[in-house]
Amino acid sequence: LIRFDNVTKRFGDNTVLDDLCFSVRSGKHVTLIGPSGSGKTTILRLLMTLVKPDEGVIRVNGGQLFPAGEKEVREVRKNIGMVFQQFNLFPHMNVLRNVTEAPVRVLGLSKDEAAERAKGLLDLVGLGDKQNAKPAQLSGGQQQRVAVARALAMRPQVLLLDEVTSALDPELVAGVLDVLRDIARTTDITMLCVTHEMNFARDISDDVLMFDAGRVIESGSPEKIFSDPEHERTREFLGAVL
Ligand code: ATP
Repeated sequence: LIRFDNVTKRFGDNTVLDDLCFSVRSGKHVTLIGPSGSGKTTILRLLMTLVKPDEGVIRVNGGQLFPAGEKEVREVRKNIGMVFQQFNLFPHMNVLRNVTEAPVRVLGLSKDEAAERAKGLLDLVGLGDKQNAKPAQLSGGQQQRVAVARALAMRPQVLLLDEVTSALDPELVAGVLDVLRDIARTTDITMLCVTHEMNFARDISDDVLMFDAGRVIESGSPEKIFSDPEHERTREFLGAVL
């Protein structure tokens, strides 16, 4: 469903992704791990079309994201949702509006349809009673759960998660990860996560990809990567973070 073929991305003379090839099958949950600066976030930003690669082909769900015309990009992008490290909620809108806004504007749902969908999702993330609150009245963990509901409201086939707990106070992390674990278990959504939470990665991942210097240096099941990594670089990295 997601496929990178020979993708290279440079910022000036910094080659961030170097002839990168990997793929993620439909419905799988894949986690990207690796040292800071190894290009993990850049991969998610390429999929959100926030940046463009210099070379290579990116395919999602049978369509092409790069190279591609604007119309094709729009079609493919509709299937991809993302939750960011900083929750990026609309501060002036209440929780319900945050979740209904894009389905109404982009998908053309009626306000009632969008509200019904949003209420179901807010229940799912444990915030059914916060519909009328403004983001500033919520804790970081609650805001991040709204951001998850907002991404899911577009019914994406692919959900990208970029270090979604790293801006949270430690006691709020578990609530967000529990919601994501539930979603991973109960839906057939494809997930691509960048995380420093190795226990979470171990729990939800079908596959873990270890990055270094813009390439995948090792991949496999979480059991394999966390218990018996082959690459010296992976051992070093896990030794430092576990
Ligand atoms: P982290 O775990 O710290 O978030 P990462 O593996 O996600 O790291 P990226 O955020 O993808 O790494 O960044 C990879 C490299 O690309 C870094 O050296 C970073 O400085 C550089 N980079 C990212 N975005 C830009 C940009 N817009 N302009 C210039 N350089 C950038």
